[in-house]
Amino acid sequence: MKLKFQAFFVAITIVASFEATAINDHREILKYFEKTKKFLCGRGICLQKIPTIYLEEKEGYRGFVDHNNTRISISPHSDAIETQLNFVHELVHTYRKQFNLDEEEWLEEGLAKLIEHQYSTVWPVSYMERLRQRPMINLDSFAEDGKSKNYAPKGEGYLASFFLMQYLYTHFGQEELLQKLLTSNKSGWDNVINAIHELTQSGPIAIPTNLISKENILRHFAVSLWMNDMFAAKYALFYLDQKYEPLSKLNILKFPRIIGPSKGAVKIQFSKEFQNSTAQNVYSIINYDPFVIKEADPQDKALIFIYLFY
Ligand SMILES: [Zn+2]
Repeated sequence: MKLKFQAFFVAITIVASFEATAINDHREILKYFEKTKKFLCGRGICLQKIPTIYLEEKEGYRGFVDHNNTRISISPHSDAIETQLNFVHELVHTYRKQFNLDEEEWLEEGLAKLIEHQYSTVWPVSYMERLRQRPMINLDSFAEDGKSKNYAPKGEGYLASFFLMQYLYTHFGQEELLQKLLTSNKSGWDNVINAIHELTQSGPIAIPTNLISKENILRHFAVSLWMNDMFAAKYALFYLDQKYEPLSKLNILKFPRIIGPSKGAVKIQFSKEFQNSTAQNVYSIINYDPFVIKEADPQDKALIFIYLFY
Protein backbone atom coordinates (compact mmCIF):
# COMPACT_ATOMS: atom_id res chain seq x y z
CA MET A 1 0.00 0.00 0.00
CA LYS A 2 1.22 3.47 -0.81
CA LEU A 3 0.02 6.44 1.19
CA LYS A 4 0.70 10.00 0.28
CA PHE A 5 0.38 13.09 2.47
CA GLN A 6 0.67 16.70 1.48
CA ALA A 7 1.87 19.23 4.02
CA PHE A 8 2.75 22.65 2.67
CA PHE A 9 5.38 21.91 0.04
CA VAL A 10 6.01 18.44 1.33
CA ALA A 11 4.95 15.06 0.18
CA ILE A 12 5.86 12.16 2.41
CA THR A 13 5.45 8.91 0.61
CA ILE A 14 5.47 5.87 2.80
CA VAL A 15 7.02 3.13 0.76
CA ALA A 16 8.63 0.84 3.28
CA SER A 17 7.58 -1.74 5.82
CA PHE A 18 8.54 -1.13 9.41
CA GLU A 19 10.31 -2.83 12.23
CA ALA A 20 8.78 -2.98 15.69
CA THR A 21 10.89 -0.19 17.20
CA ALA A 22 10.69 2.09 14.20
CA ILE A 23 8.39 5.07 13.94
CA ASN A 24 5.59 3.61 11.87
CA ASP A 25 3.00 6.30 12.08
CA HIS A 26 3.01 8.84 9.27
CA ARG A 27 1.58 11.51 11.60
CA GLU A 28 4.54 10.97 13.93
CA ILE A 29 6.90 11.35 11.00
CA LEU A 30 5.22 14.57 9.92
CA LYS A 31 5.33 15.81 13.49
CA TYR A 32 9.07 15.22 13.67
CA PHE A 33 9.58 16.80 10.31
CA GLU A 34 7.69 19.93 11.39
CA LYS A 35 9.48 20.03 14.74
CA THR A 36 12.95 19.85 13.21
CA LYS A 37 12.05 22.29 10.43
CA LYS A 38 10.89 24.76 13.10
CA PHE A 39 14.09 24.24 15.12
CA LEU A 40 16.21 25.00 12.07
CA CYS A 41 14.19 28.08 11.14
CA GLY A 42 14.69 29.31 14.71
CA ARG A 43 18.40 29.06 13.95
CA GLY A 44 17.99 31.13 10.80
CA ILE A 45 17.97 28.05 8.57
CA CYS A 46 14.53 28.48 7.03
CA LEU A 47 13.83 26.15 4.17
CA GLN A 48 12.07 27.71 1.20
CA LYS A 49 11.66 24.57 -0.84
CA ILE A 50 11.70 21.03 0.46
CA PRO A 51 12.37 17.98 -1.65
CA THR A 52 9.97 15.06 -1.58
CA ILE A 53 10.59 12.96 1.50
CA TYR A 54 10.62 9.19 1.25
CA LEU A 55 10.69 6.76 4.12
CA GLU A 56 13.22 4.37 2.74
CA GLU A 57 16.63 2.96 3.44
CA LYS A 58 19.11 4.39 0.94
CA GLU A 59 22.46 2.63 0.49
CA GLY A 60 22.73 1.92 4.22
CA TYR A 61 22.45 5.60 5.23
CA ARG A 62 20.03 6.68 7.97
CA GLY A 63 19.22 9.64 5.79
CA PHE A 64 20.17 10.75 2.32
CA VAL A 65 19.65 13.72 0.02
CA ASP A 66 20.22 13.16 -3.69
CA HIS A 67 22.77 15.34 -5.46
CA ASN A 68 20.20 17.57 -7.17
CA ASN A 69 18.26 18.12 -3.94
CA THR A 70 14.99 16.64 -5.18
CA ARG A 71 14.61 13.69 -2.82
CA ILE A 72 15.23 13.13 0.89
CA SER A 73 15.36 9.55 2.10
CA ILE A 74 14.73 8.95 5.79
CA SER A 75 15.33 5.49 7.19
CA PRO A 76 12.18 3.75 8.43
CA HIS A 77 14.36 1.71 10.78
CA SER A 78 15.03 4.52 13.25
CA ASP A 79 13.47 5.30 16.61
CA ALA A 80 11.92 8.63 17.55
CA ILE A 81 15.13 10.41 18.53
CA GLU A 82 17.08 9.06 15.56
CA THR A 83 14.32 10.12 13.19
CA GLN A 84 14.47 13.68 14.47
CA LEU A 85 18.25 13.75 14.20
CA ASN A 86 18.03 12.28 10.70
CA PHE A 87 15.64 15.06 9.71
CA VAL A 88 17.84 17.80 11.17
CA HIS A 89 20.88 16.40 9.41
CA GLU A 90 19.25 15.96 6.01
CA LEU A 91 17.41 19.29 6.14
CA VAL A 92 20.74 21.05 6.75
CA HIS A 93 22.02 19.38 3.57
CA THR A 94 18.90 20.47 1.72
CA TYR A 95 19.35 24.05 2.88
CA ARG A 96 23.03 24.08 1.95
CA LYS A 97 22.26 22.64 -1.47
CA GLN A 98 19.90 25.53 -2.19
CA PHE A 99 23.03 27.71 -2.33
CA ASN A 100 25.64 25.27 -3.58
CA LEU A 101 25.11 21.76 -4.94
CA ASP A 102 28.82 20.97 -4.88
CA GLU A 103 30.04 21.72 -1.37
CA GLU A 104 33.03 19.60 -0.37
CA GLU A 105 32.14 16.51 1.59
CA TRP A 106 34.07 17.30 4.78
CA LEU A 107 32.41 20.70 5.13
CA GLU A 108 28.96 19.56 4.02
CA GLU A 109 28.97 16.79 6.63
CA GLY A 110 30.60 18.95 9.29
CA LEU A 111 27.79 21.49 9.06
CA ALA A 112 25.11 18.80 9.26
CA LYS A 113 26.82 16.99 12.13
CA LEU A 114 27.38 20.12 14.19
CA ILE A 115 23.76 21.25 13.94
CA GLU A 116 22.52 17.70 14.51
CA HIS A 117 24.43 17.57 17.80
CA GLN A 118 23.27 21.02 18.80
CA TYR A 119 19.70 19.78 18.34
CA SER A 120 20.31 16.71 20.49
CA THR A 121 22.23 18.80 23.08
CA VAL A 122 24.14 15.61 23.86
CA TRP A 123 27.89 15.78 23.40
CA PRO A 124 28.95 12.84 21.18
CA VAL A 125 31.04 10.84 23.64
CA SER A 126 31.16 7.95 21.17
CA TYR A 127 32.99 10.23 18.70
CA MET A 128 35.73 10.85 21.24
CA GLU A 129 36.02 7.11 21.83
CA ARG A 130 36.28 6.45 18.11
CA LEU A 131 38.75 9.30 17.65
CA ARG A 132 41.18 7.88 20.19
CA GLN A 133 41.14 4.57 18.32
CA ARG A 134 41.90 6.23 15.01
CA PRO A 135 45.45 6.50 13.76
CA MET A 136 44.79 9.98 12.38
CA ILE A 137 42.28 12.67 11.64
CA ASN A 138 41.18 12.14 8.08
CA LEU A 139 39.10 14.71 6.19
CA ASP A 140 39.57 13.04 2.84
CA SER A 141 36.64 11.63 0.89
CA PHE A 142 38.41 8.29 1.01
CA ALA A 143 39.26 6.17 4.02
CA GLU A 144 42.82 5.26 4.91
CA ASP A 145 42.91 2.39 2.44
CA GLY A 146 42.43 4.99 -0.31
CA LYS A 147 39.49 3.05 -1.73
CA SER A 148 36.52 2.88 0.62
CA LYS A 149 34.52 6.01 1.34
CA ASN A 150 35.35 8.00 4.44
CA TYR A 151 31.79 9.37 4.47
CA ALA A 152 30.02 6.06 3.97
CA PRO A 153 27.52 4.97 6.65
CA LYS A 154 29.44 4.81 9.95
CA GLY A 155 32.48 6.28 8.15
CA GLU A 156 35.16 7.99 10.23
CA GLY A 157 34.97 11.17 8.16
CA TYR A 158 31.92 12.31 10.11
CA LEU A 159 33.74 12.53 13.40
CA ALA A 160 36.75 14.32 11.87
CA SER A 161 34.34 16.79 10.26
CA PHE A 162 32.38 17.23 13.47
CA PHE A 163 35.42 18.13 15.56
CA LEU A 164 36.81 20.51 12.95
CA MET A 165 33.43 22.22 12.59
CA GLN A 166 33.11 22.49 16.37
CA TYR A 167 36.55 24.12 16.43
CA LEU A 168 35.65 26.59 13.69
CA TYR A 169 32.35 27.35 15.40
CA THR A 170 34.02 28.00 18.78
CA HIS A 171 36.64 30.41 17.44
CA PHE A 172 35.37 32.03 14.29
CA GLY A 173 31.94 33.52 14.79
CA GLN A 174 29.55 30.77 15.93
CA GLU A 175 26.05 31.40 14.50
CA GLU A 176 27.30 34.11 12.17
CA LEU A 177 29.91 31.73 10.81
CA LEU A 178 27.30 29.00 10.28
CA GLN A 179 25.07 31.40 8.36
CA LYS A 180 27.91 32.39 6.06
CA LEU A 181 29.10 28.83 5.48
CA LEU A 182 25.58 27.58 4.78
CA THR A 183 24.65 30.29 2.29
CA SER A 184 27.92 30.74 0.38
CA ASN A 185 28.35 29.81 -3.26
CA LYS A 186 31.99 28.97 -2.49
CA SER A 187 33.11 25.49 -1.42
CA GLY A 188 35.50 23.90 1.07
CA TRP A 189 38.38 26.00 2.40
CA ASP A 190 37.54 28.87 0.04
CA ASN A 191 34.19 29.04 1.78
CA VAL A 192 35.70 28.84 5.29
CA ILE A 193 38.48 31.41 4.78
CA ASN A 194 36.20 33.82 2.95
CA ALA A 195 33.55 33.61 5.71
CA ILE A 196 36.12 34.20 8.47
CA HIS A 197 37.67 37.16 6.64
CA GLU A 198 34.23 38.73 6.22
CA LEU A 199 33.50 38.28 9.93
CA THR A 200 36.90 39.73 10.82
CA GLN A 201 36.07 42.85 8.81
CA SER A 202 32.56 43.21 10.19
CA GLY A 203 33.70 42.86 13.80
CA PRO A 204 32.88 39.64 15.68
CA ILE A 205 36.33 38.03 15.31
CA ALA A 206 39.33 39.59 17.07
CA ILE A 207 41.92 37.08 15.82
CA PRO A 208 44.62 38.69 13.63
CA THR A 209 44.22 37.97 9.95
CA ASN A 210 47.75 36.53 9.63
CA LEU A 211 46.57 33.58 11.72
CA ILE A 212 43.63 32.96 9.44
CA SER A 213 44.73 30.54 6.76
CA LYS A 214 43.95 26.90 6.07
CA GLU A 215 47.41 25.87 7.31
CA ASN A 216 47.28 27.91 10.52
CA ILE A 217 43.77 26.83 11.37
CA LEU A 218 44.68 23.17 10.86
CA ARG A 219 47.79 23.50 13.06
CA HIS A 220 45.88 25.05 15.90
CA PHE A 221 43.02 22.63 15.46
CA ALA A 222 45.45 19.69 15.57
CA VAL A 223 46.94 20.93 18.83
CA SER A 224 43.49 21.60 20.27
CA LEU A 225 42.61 17.94 19.68
CA TRP A 226 45.72 17.06 21.57
CA MET A 227 45.51 19.57 24.45
CA ASN A 228 42.14 21.29 24.59
CA ASP A 229 43.70 23.98 26.75
CA MET A 230 42.02 27.38 27.04
CA PHE A 231 45.17 29.11 28.33
CA ALA A 232 47.98 27.50 26.37
CA ALA A 233 47.91 29.75 23.32
CA LYS A 234 46.96 33.25 22.28
CA TYR A 235 43.26 33.70 21.52
CA ALA A 236 42.68 30.29 23.18
CA LEU A 237 43.42 28.66 19.82
CA PHE A 238 44.40 25.35 21.45
CA TYR A 239 40.92 25.02 22.91
CA LEU A 240 38.15 22.95 21.37
CA ASP A 241 35.30 22.56 23.83
CA GLN A 242 34.68 22.20 27.53
CA LYS A 243 33.26 18.71 27.04
CA TYR A 244 36.06 17.48 24.81
CA GLU A 245 38.55 15.06 26.39
CA PRO A 246 41.98 15.70 24.84
CA LEU A 247 44.09 13.00 23.25
CA SER A 248 47.06 13.91 25.47
CA LYS A 249 45.32 12.07 28.28
CA LEU A 250 45.34 8.89 26.24
CA ASN A 251 47.97 6.51 25.10
CA ILE A 252 48.00 6.49 21.32
CA LEU A 253 50.49 4.29 19.59
CA LYS A 254 49.24 3.65 16.11
CA PHE A 255 51.26 5.05 13.21
CA PRO A 256 49.93 3.78 9.94
CA ARG A 257 51.16 4.33 6.46
CA ILE A 258 49.15 6.42 4.10
CA ILE A 259 48.11 4.92 0.82
CA GLY A 260 46.71 6.72 -2.18
CA PRO A 261 45.82 10.17 -0.83
CA SER A 262 43.52 12.10 -3.10
CA LYS A 263 43.63 15.71 -4.20
CA GLY A 264 42.57 18.21 -1.57
CA ALA A 265 42.89 15.70 1.28
CA VAL A 266 43.78 16.71 4.81
CA LYS A 267 45.11 14.21 7.31
CA ILE A 268 46.56 14.97 10.72
CA GLN A 269 48.77 12.62 12.63
CA PHE A 270 50.65 13.09 15.91
CA SER A 271 54.19 11.82 16.26
CA LYS A 272 55.65 10.19 19.36
CA GLU A 273 57.83 13.24 20.00
CA PHE A 274 54.78 15.43 20.13
CA GLN A 275 53.11 13.15 22.62
CA ASN A 276 55.77 13.99 25.19
CA SER A 277 55.52 17.74 24.68
CA THR A 278 54.41 19.99 27.50
CA ALA A 279 52.02 22.87 27.08
CA GLN A 280 54.91 25.38 27.16
CA ASN A 281 56.80 23.49 24.49
CA VAL A 282 53.80 23.35 22.23
CA TYR A 283 53.19 27.05 22.65
CA SER A 284 56.72 27.92 21.56
CA ILE A 285 56.47 25.35 18.80
CA ILE A 286 53.47 26.97 17.27
CA ASN A 287 55.05 30.42 17.48
CA TYR A 288 58.37 29.35 15.96
CA ASP A 289 56.87 27.30 13.25
CA PRO A 290 58.59 23.92 13.39
CA PHE A 291 55.48 22.19 12.16
CA VAL A 292 55.89 20.27 9.01
CA ILE A 293 53.20 21.09 6.55
CA LYS A 294 53.99 19.02 3.55
CA GLU A 295 53.62 15.52 2.26
CA ALA A 296 55.30 14.28 5.41
CA ASP A 297 57.48 11.24 5.84
CA PRO A 298 56.26 9.39 8.96
CA GLN A 299 59.94 8.82 9.87
CA ASP A 300 60.41 12.58 10.01
CA LYS A 301 60.92 14.24 13.38
CA ALA A 302 58.02 16.60 12.91
CA LEU A 303 55.76 16.97 15.88
CA ILE A 304 52.51 16.95 14.04
CA PHE A 305 52.20 15.69 10.53
CA ILE A 306 49.59 17.58 8.64
CA TYR A 307 49.22 16.07 5.26
CA LEU A 308 47.83 18.45 2.72
CA PHE A 309 47.47 17.21 -0.82
CA TYR A 310 46.81 19.87 -3.41
ZN1 LIG B 1 25.16 13.91 5.73
